[in-house]
Amino acid sequence: MEDGLIWKDLEGTPQQFGSKEVWNNIRNRNSTVDWANHIWFSQCIPPHLFHMWLVIKNKLRTQDRLAAWEAGSETNLRLMCCPLCKYDRDSRDHLFFQCAFAAQVWNNVKSLVDMSNVNDSWESIMDWMIQHANARKIDHIVCKMVVAA
Ligand SMILES: [Zn+2]
Repeated sequence: MEDGLIWKDLEGTPQQFGSKEVWNNIRNRNSTVDWANHIWFSQCIPPHLFHMWLVIKNKLRTQDRLAAWEAGSETNLRLMCCPLCKYDRDSRDHLFFQCAFAAQVWNNVKSLVDMSNVNDSWESIMDWMIQHANARKIDHIVCKMVVAA
């Protein structure tokens, strides 16, 4: 018999060695979040999916978060302002709703899809997303894709 690679899974059962088997054994698994089906659906666009995940976790590199990190002595935080309206420091909520330009875009998009009952807040969007996470109606799938885009 030739030598071969064997991997013992979490139960100690020998398996064929493969990256999938190793990954499934070494990764940490947390419980599924209630918004998982909203961003991971069969029609989703992978770059949008990743961006949506950052938005939901509020991990975008926005100026309010950079200010909290103390970006260094060479960075003048007073010069930071939203690149769209030049008014305030950007943040997740500013970039999506509070900025005059972004609010105009969001309201136009909302009127094109069936989301007129969604308020201008991230919580309202997430409530809508969670309600329609498993929806198969084409209108709801388009809405989910539009929000992610
Ligand atoms: Zn702005």
